[in-house]
Amino acid sequence: MEKTIPHIEYTKKTAQQLLAVEEPEVQGLYRLADRIRRDHMGDDVYIRGIIEFSNICANNCLYCGIRAGNGKVARYTLSADEILETASAMATGHQMTVVLQSGETPALGDEVLGGIIRRIKKETPLAVTVSVGNRPRETYRYWKECGMDRYLLRFETSDPGLFLRLHPGSTLEERLKCLNDLQDIGIQTGSGFMIGLPGETPDILAQNILLCRELDLDMIGIGPFIPHPDTPLGKERNIYDDNREMFFKTLAVLRVFNPDAHIPATTAYDAVFPGEGRDLALRRGANIFMPNNTPACHRKDYFLYPDKPGVDDPADQCLESAVARIRALGRNVGEGPGHSIKGAHVAPSTSKAVGASPSRDRSR
Ligand code: SAM
Repeated sequence: MEKTIPHIEYTKKTAQQLLAVEEPEVQGLYRLADRIRRDHMGDDVYIRGIIEFSNICANNCLYCGIRAGNGKVARYTLSADEILETASAMATGHQMTVVLQSGETPALGDEVLGGIIRRIKKETPLAVTVSVGNRPRETYRYWKECGMDRYLLRFETSDPGLFLRLHPGSTLEERLKCLNDLQDIGIQTGSGFMIGLPGETPDILAQNILLCRELDLDMIGIGPFIPHPDTPLGKERNIYDDNREMFFKTLAVLRVFNPDAHIPATTAYDAVFPGEGRDLALRRGANIFMPNNTPACHRKDYFLYPDKPGVDDPADQCLESAVARIRALGRNVGEGPGHSIKGAHVAPSTSKAVGASPSRDRSR
């Protein structure tokens, strides 16, 4: 199936060699990533509208602006009706997936979220992606029964020691167990990592890419680490601050190693490269765009990192700008939900399979 890259060996060494290319070869890497994206995923860019429905979090991830220990955050949680209203307004034909994201707040009630998923599936034509952190397998199963289609849970770093330092009280093993549970249950599963965390080495970065491939993910979201002033890492720098090309090189190598995964041009690329980061990402391997649909009054309170774009723009403006950016690149806005092109678990009637692979064995 991997027709554009017949001779590649998917090893850490290959990833490291590709990450090390410099001008002018780096342009060849970008062209290769773009060609693989086109051959495997087509020219459609799917738009997933994100609703950041709560910034309450029980965790203390060292990098994250909404960590429990940040007393400066004005905490909020949208009501079920507010979420429904926002989701219904999204279903215009261009955004056929809603991504429900929040901090990790098991106390707020997995059943409440289950009810919201049910209502969205009943009252709108949207596919539902959830991204609310580590949960028990039974909760994932319950949300699937409620209609959840997909789940996003980044592993953040593939290095167990670094993971533990960044996530007090939580291990990489637990995170990977959650990902395994999600895949086992048959939920389209997304993961990914941050680029340039303090303590990350070239070896870890290459291993991050390799782990994405080994996990055989449906979606992979990555983005640069951006220091937030009110966190323990606030005075640190991204280790690639003086070599920001690495953010795009990583994305391109990620695409080379994962031809059939949906890869978003994440918001953090626009934070680092204002006005053009996501466009460049779309030209270097990405095929998904995720505009912010969080009600405007709460945007500034979901402050994961500085310079997050679109904080002051109304949702319809975020969507319009996304559509315009996609078309300006000569690409199409994807129609339908844009489900995974990998999964046996995806109903063929709703799966827009561009160069789809045969069903994969999910019996792990
Ligand atoms: N609580 C859920 C979870 O942990 O998966 C979802 C919300 S979490 C805030 C979403 C993502 O934001 C994280 O997976 C992390 O990669 C990213 N993030 C948080 N702080 C960041 C920072 N300072 N720079 C870049 N990305 C950051």
